[in-house]
Amino acid sequence: MSIAELYEIYKKYPSVKTDSRNIQPGDLFFALKGPNFNGNLYAAQAISDGAVYAIIDEPLKQDNERFIQVPDVLSCLQQLAHYHRRTFDIPFIAITGSNGKTTTKELIHTVLSTSYTTYTTKGNLNNHIGIPLTILSVKRDAEVAVIEMGANHLKEIAGYCIYTQPTIGIITNCGKAHLEGFGSEAGVRKGKGELFDYLRANNGTCFAFADYPYFTDMTQGIDRKYWYSGNVNSNKTPLIAAGSIEKSDPFLIIKLQAHHKADRLINTQLVGAYNLPNVLCAVAIGRYFDISDEAIERAIAAYAPSNSRSQLIHQGSNQIILDAYNANPSSMQAAIENFSRMQADHKVLILGGMKELGQDSEAEHRKLISQIKQIGGWQEVLLIGPEFEALASNYLWFLDQKAAAAAIEKMHIEKSYILVKGSRSNGLEKLVAYL
Ligand code: ATP
Ligand code: MG
Repeated sequence: MSIAELYEIYKKYPSVKTDSRNIQPGDLFFALKGPNFNGNLYAAQAISDGAVYAIIDEPLKQDNERFIQVPDVLSCLQQLAHYHRRTFDIPFIAITGSNGKTTTKELIHTVLSTSYTTYTTKGNLNNHIGIPLTILSVKRDAEVAVIEMGANHLKEIAGYCIYTQPTIGIITNCGKAHLEGFGSEAGVRKGKGELFDYLRANNGTCFAFADYPYFTDMTQGIDRKYWYSGNVNSNKTPLIAAGSIEKSDPFLIIKLQAHHKADRLINTQLVGAYNLPNVLCAVAIGRYFDISDEAIERAIAAYAPSNSRSQLIHQGSNQIILDAYNANPSSMQAAIENFSRMQADHKVLILGGMKELGQDSEAEHRKLISQIKQIGGWQEVLLIGPEFEALASNYLWFLDQKAAAAAIEKMHIEKSYILVKGSRSNGLEKLVAYL
């Protein structure tokens, strides 16, 4: 079956599923394969659960007129997304970067939704499956689409751009994340930069944070570019949004420079000075789309993060900053610096190991420990995960979250400000119950 024919089926049945456990009547089931599963084996079950068709790529014993066999299901899903994308003549905004993609995406979605019918990535579905699914979730009434793109190796973003065809692109930053796949920070810049390469070649528009010097080179040759900055005197032009931190304890209040008017304060529900560029980016996009500063400000103020991303939790006499969604050297450093600036008598650091650092792992964990030592003033430091075992020196060390939970329960931490941060696989969010 050709993609054009399959697209006719999709138009009738636009609810696409790849997880056979969530099938609803009328769904189209794409039988993907992974290292530990083979969707083809669930095709018959999906049909009996109500899927109208199952797209498969292995001949199945039991024949069924509702099976559509294609050479490769994943590639078919991506081609279908591409086909669907080409039926729209609206802005498609792509967001990549090492840190802050989801937060920036959610803020932009919140801002744009005040004036436009906007579709966006759900949660963190930012990979080779999530991106096509997101594109296929964009409905006919869409006026803008906002797509998060994650990447941990070269050529990945370039591939996503082929079927997403972004017209606008944002790289939040290029830091130390996924060094295993990118090799170095230069590799990270090259990999994330594939989004700007696509825009350069396709007359697209880019937005970049003026305060990171590497963006000067990375945006070279792109005719349509806009800057946002944490420095109101930045000399980058056009500077579409500039602001500074008015206060960041615990929530960030941003003073936004308003042209020919008094500066405005944006009261966010975000913890962490590192959210300044994320917020300014949403302001930049809002202004680009002609949304008033008043409406932008209201939308950002109403946004509260969830999913363990810089959440502030009051529990008993403790205040907990839960940032257990991800961690890499740059986001760890940003979170600890931010925490060190907060006013409190008793501060507790609970840190989990950082994953996917490859051969840089030991050196980066060592650096982290010297940073903690240098800042000092912690009432308690708990380090969790095998990455810290040989390095923990005088600090408390636990192999995993369970061992830490047992110890924390006995410690009776009270009247403290607590930062909980680590890579998601440490499961540090489970510690909150014991604090
Ligand atoms: P993922 O790679 O998991 O998709 P992401 O890029 O979508 O991550 P977010 O989920 O928005 O990032 O934020 C995750 C964490 O990264 C935050 O809780 C915070 O610690 C850190 N972070 C967010 N924004 C920034 C930023 N602009 N600079 C540095 N660190 C940031
Ligand atoms: Mg994300």
